[in-house]
Amino acid sequence: MSHETLKTDILILGMGAAGQLAALYAYDANPDLKITIVTKALKGKGGCSRMVQGGLNVVLNDSDSHEKHLMDTLKGGQYVNDQDLARTLVEEATPTIKEMETRFGCFFDRNPDGTIHQKPFAGQSFDRTVHKGDLTGIEMISRTTEQIMKRDIQVLEECRAVDLLTDDSGDEVTGALMLDMKQGRFVVIEAAATLVATGGGPTQYSFHAPGPEKSVDGLAMLYRAGVRLRDMEMIQFHPTGLIIPGSVVAGSLLEEGLRGAGAHLYNGEGKRYMHKYDPAEERATRDVVSRSAFLEMLAGRACVEGGIQIDAAHMGAEFVLKNFPGMAARCRQFGYDLARERVPISPTAHFVMGGADIDKNCHTSLRRLFVAGEDSGGVHGGNRLGGNGICESAVYGRQAGKSLARFFRTNSSTPPETAPGLVDELKKKFTEPFGRSGSTEDVFQLRRQLQECNWKKVGVVRNGQDMESAIGEINFLKEESKKVKVTGGDNYNMVWNTYIDLTNMIDVSDMVVASALARKESRAAHYRSDFPDQNDEIGLFNTYLTLGDNGLPTLHSEPVDFKYKSAEECRNHKK
Ligand SMILES: Cc1cc2nc3c(=O)[nH]c(=O)nc-3n(C[C@H](O)[C@H](O)[C@H](O)COP(=O)(O)OP(=O)(O)OC[C@H]3O[C@@H](n4cnc5c(N)ncnc54)[C@H](O)[C@@H]3O)c2cc1C
Repeated sequence: MSHETLKTDILILGMGAAGQLAALYAYDANPDLKITIVTKALKGKGGCSRMVQGGLNVVLNDSDSHEKHLMDTLKGGQYVNDQDLARTLVEEATPTIKEMETRFGCFFDRNPDGTIHQKPFAGQSFDRTVHKGDLTGIEMISRTTEQIMKRDIQVLEECRAVDLLTDDSGDEVTGALMLDMKQGRFVVIEAAATLVATGGGPTQYSFHAPGPEKSVDGLAMLYRAGVRLRDMEMIQFHPTGLIIPGSVVAGSLLEEGLRGAGAHLYNGEGKRYMHKYDPAEERATRDVVSRSAFLEMLAGRACVEGGIQIDAAHMGAEFVLKNFPGMAARCRQFGYDLARERVPISPTAHFVMGGADIDKNCHTSLRRLFVAGEDSGGVHGGNRLGGNGICESAVYGRQAGKSLARFFRTNSSTPPETAPGLVDELKKKFTEPFGRSGSTEDVFQLRRQLQECNWKKVGVVRNGQDMESAIGEINFLKEESKKVKVTGGDNYNMVWNTYIDLTNMIDVSDMVVASALARKESRAAHYRSDFPDQNDEIGLFNTYLTLGDNGLPTLHSEPVDFKYKSAEECRNHKK
């Protein structure tokens, strides 16, 4: 299959908050740079940023401080955060949010005196979540997409990156290979600098919150290119995913603000149970609330739909409809009345805390490669606070944009040559399933099996025995995936695209299970029933990995760098 070759200065993979802000800041710093954004979805429509209901955490009030936001973030992450990244997050969030209003036209909800309204989210020592009703992501992404369209920035939509390209040494990234999904043809984009911002998104679990186009592509591409990743055992399960039997949107969220505002959780026996697990009850952090629900379900106290129930009705229908109109409308679509009755929910895979090991200017272990947003790791440690996710994407999108512009002040805009034969090798790899004879494996079934395996064995509650057995199952599915036969045409080929998704999910499953086995304790989002306690004697480390010669992750750990705050200070912090 032939391919087209395009050249650009900056290639940005992903068009969520991280990708868009990076493009805007890089362009505004130097409008002569040729910037190309590639998105798997339609322009401005895909990704998790658009799905953000709750909002983003920002210090704006004199009674709040960056110090408090930092301590909340480190406490939430159970001290294994990269403190440089966490500090940059909280300090740069303040100018970022102001510039989102003044430069890009986003408009957040106001208090009667005209100041920006901030609401409570779990794990905060001050109510600091900025929002636009409960549809914050739509405001942010709609406005920033308009800004992209006003500038001379090229956007390729419904186009997916399938792998990064590197030079002969493997140390420099030279662009990426794309599959234009509309036409079913490959496009090589040669770039002097590449930003990966495809937004993590743990869809390798059966019950998950991110949108359907997400398949952990960025994380898998980074791994295959030899980038160093970190903390991949840390997967966040959001406690309140809607149970919608038989629907592809099952697992979509009822946001944290509901619990912040006072919603209660009930088990299948009709009893509130959170007091048994945490004194903060429903306002405990996500990891605690998810695990508590899962343990109630495991103990046979699930509701008839299989999960637990959330009750917002006790706050009054008028209050719920006024403050959570988006969520009330979503529930109505599926026959639930959030304002007047309890609604069935379950923990749902939500966010990847791990990812590429970056510095605060988004550099990675490879030259000419930058990563921002959910594809990066370290900011949140073992657990992300609600409102710190989209905040990370906005702050680090801005950091990446500035950093990319700076890169061109001292580096050549001509990338080194891509390793000879690499493009052909990759094209062959990705088209191989078309030529297979023999039986056609059901790629959708293999994906389902992988998701169930991860959900049951490497999910909210894990243990060594289950994870060893998951490794066997993942290896089996890897072998089965090599038999998948793809039929049909090249354009909009669902089977072909699902096959590529599946291979990415398998690579990421390898990384998660290996990292989770290596952490022999429980910490934050990583809960092991065979090591149920957090153990600071052995657990204050970060897990790093790269792809080994045997095709599996090679792991090593390093002690946490308590650069600004000691473990003791983090432990003693009271929300
Ligand atoms: C339902 C939901 C609600 C949330 N609510 C909140 C909240 O209230 N507060 C908060 O702080 N966080 C929230 N989060 C988390 C937050 O949305 C994400 O962490 C954040 O938006 C990620 O931003 P991003 O720019 O890294 O990626 P995204 O916004 O996910 O964008 C990724 C982009 O990459 C594209 N892409 C994917 N694969 C490829 C590929 N192979 N090639 C090219 N493009 C590709 C996608 O199409 C998309 O354009 C929520 C998440 C979900 C799922």
